[in-house]
Amino acid sequence: MTLYGVFQVFAFVLGLCLGSFLNVCIARMPEDRSVISPRSRCPHCGHPIRAIDNIPLLSWLLLGARCRDCHQPISVAYPLVEASTGLLVLLVFREVVPGPSALDGPHLLAFAWYTLFVTALAGAALVDARHHIVPDEFSLWMIPVGVAGALGLGFLGPDLAPTWKQSLVGAFAGGAFLMAVNAAYWLVRREVGVWPGDVKLLAMIGAFLGAFPALILVLILGSSIGAIVGIGLVLATRHGGLKMALPFGPFLALGGIATLLFGEPVLRRWTEAFLLLLPT
Ligand SMILES: [Zn+2]
Repeated sequence: MTLYGVFQVFAFVLGLCLGSFLNVCIARMPEDRSVISPRSRCPHCGHPIRAIDNIPLLSWLLLGARCRDCHQPISVAYPLVEASTGLLVLLVFREVVPGPSALDGPHLLAFAWYTLFVTALAGAALVDARHHIVPDEFSLWMIPVGVAGALGLGFLGPDLAPTWKQSLVGAFAGGAFLMAVNAAYWLVRREVGVWPGDVKLLAMIGAFLGAFPALILVLILGSSIGAIVGIGLVLATRHGGLKMALPFGPFLALGGIATLLFGEPVLRRWTEAFLLLLPT
């Protein structure tokens, strides 16, 4: 196996472990419990989970999806979150470190920084989908991480990350845009349109991806995915007067992930078109 292959396996395993950590976050963060201690317990019998039964993905398979102590089924959601986070981090690695020639310190640091970004996005999406809140740990607290990382990576090389100015403007633009939407919504409908958690989440995405043109693509992708899922849910439930609050956070997060992984060709074309408009 080549060194680049070894690093890809490492990225996938790192993602599995981060996914396992996210499972703990999903269960504990909405109740403001610590995500560090105590050890996880079986939700049915309360028995602490042994280290050997806590290996991401593998333990679930080896245990046959049942608790070793009480033999109650363990939800498939756990290994699914672990496997998808593993795949996500692997894709981020292949995007940020595009080949063996890019296997150097600066690119690996950029990979670490973007891994923090997508882990926070996955965490925000999962907790919001399940409990309708976006924890500050995955949004507000990540904004300084984004700006500081953009500043540091800027010293190490060009194009590893947005410039720190782009990052700072991105954080402000993301927050300000959704606050403006909220103000307009309040004037027209007299109700809250966008929750504060979503405002902080888009500010965080702006800090990692930069303001223009990335945030526009994030919003277009996020709203489109949200609309498709929303229409799908309405059709699936066939409820004429269905009034269901669909959280926006998961779609913003998916928009951010899609922009990072697949947005580059679109963003490059937009930037070129924009530069043509500028007077020379
Ligand atoms: Zn049990």
